[in-house]
Amino acid sequence: MKFETLAIHAGQEPDPNNGAVMTPVYLTSTYAQDGVGRPRQGYEYSRTQNPTRKALQDCIAALEGGNYGLAFSSGLAATDTVLRLLNADSHVLAGNDVYGGTFRLFDKVLRRFNLDFTFADTTDPESVAEALTPSTRLVWLETPTNPFLRVTDIRAIAEVVHAHPNKPLLVVDNTFATPYLQRPLELGADIVVHSTTKYLGGHSDVVGGAVIVKDKELADKLYFLQNAVGAVPGPMDCFLVLRGIKTLPLRMDRHAGNANAIVEFLEKHPKVEKLIYPHHPSHPQYKVAKQQMKNGGGMISFILKGGRDAAVKVVEATRIFTLAESLGGVESLIEVPAAMTHLSVAGSQLAVDPGLVRLSVGIEHKDDLLEDLEQALR
Ligand SMILES: *Cc1c(COP(=O)(O)O)cnc(C)c1O
Repeated sequence: MKFETLAIHAGQEPDPNNGAVMTPVYLTSTYAQDGVGRPRQGYEYSRTQNPTRKALQDCIAALEGGNYGLAFSSGLAATDTVLRLLNADSHVLAGNDVYGGTFRLFDKVLRRFNLDFTFADTTDPESVAEALTPSTRLVWLETPTNPFLRVTDIRAIAEVVHAHPNKPLLVVDNTFATPYLQRPLELGADIVVHSTTKYLGGHSDVVGGAVIVKDKELADKLYFLQNAVGAVPGPMDCFLVLRGIKTLPLRMDRHAGNANAIVEFLEKHPKVEKLIYPHHPSHPQYKVAKQQMKNGGGMISFILKGGRDAAVKVVEATRIFTLAESLGGVESLIEVPAAMTHLSVAGSQLAVDPGLVRLSVGIEHKDDLLEDLEQALR
């Protein structure tokens, strides 16, 4: 089946009990057993398995071209569980431009458990090769990144990483691109991670995460951890993400269409110093982005000539673009990363230009969005 069909049907069949077409929200913590140690259909306890969660897990696995999916209570819970595959004293190589919360989890929490982290420029396969050590067990990258929208050639990095004698796991956080634009498992990644809070959910009404893999042995270890650690989503949250996914292809095309119109407007605007969009010819990894991603997505960053003051003025002057953190919903959002989403990395190697503005372009009519930006910049 094609992606658009999978988005609606994968993992979901009319309920065998009553024919309900939409996956029911199974609000139950436990399940009747036919005899001691004989659960019906494998369900015993909802931390371990829940039918609504199973539908979501099977759906996201199909969309990413994987064989196994796991849902979590947040993107960071998914990330944390993946890192628990490692033993103490392992080395992790991560992109130097990863999501701020991922950096905080690695740097402030997991270091205390004797994991060692190095942050490198993953857009350059050579700097990844140089940063690998004899104890590297996992390589973590994000593409495109947030908010610089840097693009990493997943296939090139997979070659470098898998040439290492340890065979480290290559993990790609595919939150910004979504499986509709980019499928890391097909490009050589071992694990895909998502914050389903963003485009997969798509309506800014739920927090969630996901992990997808191809390999059975790896999946078994992750299912063990999912149950042992317990950072699972409730069934209502799973339902919301499942419902969001049904329109993912439609939304992503519209996000990108609107983003293209805004890119055309911003590239000519006299107050814009620099425009950042993966499918714009000025982007440093334009060629890789064109190869690897179906379209440029809905995220745009730009640096204003007037620095921080100008950026603050613009984001406080928009009427349709809401001043808020997060991204990936149907509604357009605007923010100043240095003062908002990326405040936690101020002063570190991940610090962001104070004049940078980030747009999460929604699916409203593009003329309204253009008019709003036009008046705010004026
Ligand atoms: C939001 C986000 C996360 C974290 O996800 P939560 O659902 O907020 O825990 C991880 N990676 C990226 C790229 C994100 O945008």
